[in-house]
Amino acid sequence: MFRTRLHQLAEQSLTRTVNPLESSTGPVVQRLGRRVILLCSNDYLGLATHHDVIHAAICATERYGVGSGAARLICGTLPPHENLETSLANFKGTEAALMFGSGYVANLGVIPSLIGHNGLILADRLCHASLIDGCRLSGADFRVFRHRDLAHVESLLKRRAANRHTLIVTDGLFSMDGDIAPLPELASLAKQYDAMLYVDDAHGTGIMGPTGRGTLEQLGVEHEIPFHMGTLGKALGSSGAYVVGPRDMIQYLINTARSFIFTTAPPPSSAAAANAALAIIRQDPERRIRLWANRHRLFTGLQQRGFRLTDTVSPILPILIGSAEQALAFAEQLLAHGVYVPAIRPPTVPDDTSRIRVTVTSEHTADHIDEALKAFELAGRATGLV
Ligand SMILES: *Cc1c(COP(=O)(O)O)cnc(C)c1O
Repeated sequence: MFRTRLHQLAEQSLTRTVNPLESSTGPVVQRLGRRVILLCSNDYLGLATHHDVIHAAICATERYGVGSGAARLICGTLPPHENLETSLANFKGTEAALMFGSGYVANLGVIPSLIGHNGLILADRLCHASLIDGCRLSGADFRVFRHRDLAHVESLLKRRAANRHTLIVTDGLFSMDGDIAPLPELASLAKQYDAMLYVDDAHGTGIMGPTGRGTLEQLGVEHEIPFHMGTLGKALGSSGAYVVGPRDMIQYLINTARSFIFTTAPPPSSAAAANAALAIIRQDPERRIRLWANRHRLFTGLQQRGFRLTDTVSPILPILIGSAEQALAFAEQLLAHGVYVPAIRPPTVPDDTSRIRVTVTSEHTADHIDEALKAFELAGRATGLV
């Protein structure tokens, strides 16, 4: 059974494999004994290997151990968890915050807490798989609207039964396209039609907005959207996730979100590392400035070489290819020229939209980017893309 199914995947160029690195994440890594430029990490600000962040994780481990010992509601809540939650609420200007073990499990827990099987969920077609799984788990009626299509959202809101409990779900910054949701308009629709809005800002956290508070800050809607979630494993360089919002809402999640209640508390080191990363984001705008300068250099270089990119406004620069087979061939050529970016294929993205999802970080140098652009050009020619 397994072999047949794997064979079917291989025939569609959809086999996935884990691709171990032999060094820590960074602008340049060791892979299969070779030096390659890494252009697929979500460690946008290089904080996973920042000295202060590592130091915070080590100190927390020495002081509190490697594991938390139990679920948060038993005896697993330690000072690093509480300190992180206080800092997050402070950073985001909300009353409270709650840490989860990962973004995936946060969405699996939070969405069913927000809405039950009598409710209606409207979700963007390109929202993250963890949001879709959370929506399914809630048992609510689940409708998908066309990507960023407000008229579609409104028509679905108009058609629903009167007073039906409704939740609108979207990414803030879309992980596979690098574009952002129309949050001001979604917030007004939510208000007008008495629906809730749940934004997942996993990728926006730390990089979007003038001070890195995320896509809500960028679009000036922090006051219009009372709660949202984000993760600690991307720009914050650690692991885990958070929800920020009013105190009542956080208390409600503590009492109802099953993926918060029935799991061992995240390791103290992850919480302490995320807290240290947050402090760096608040004190050191230089990394964000370098990130956006690098993004500009790479984006313009790819455009000049004739690559077809999505409507991205972020350091996520997806090159649209189409077939899974062609995307794989392009990724292989890139690797041969010293750049590592795996192909993204269905079911992560819709059929026939396979792509090379390029991400750049603050830690790449101009030389790294120019070297990568040469590799893109050679690989593009070798595969007939440009
Ligand atoms: C990465 C991601 C997640 C999952 O977060 P993890 O902490 O990696 O589990 C959830 N939502 C979005 C939009 C993401 O990009």
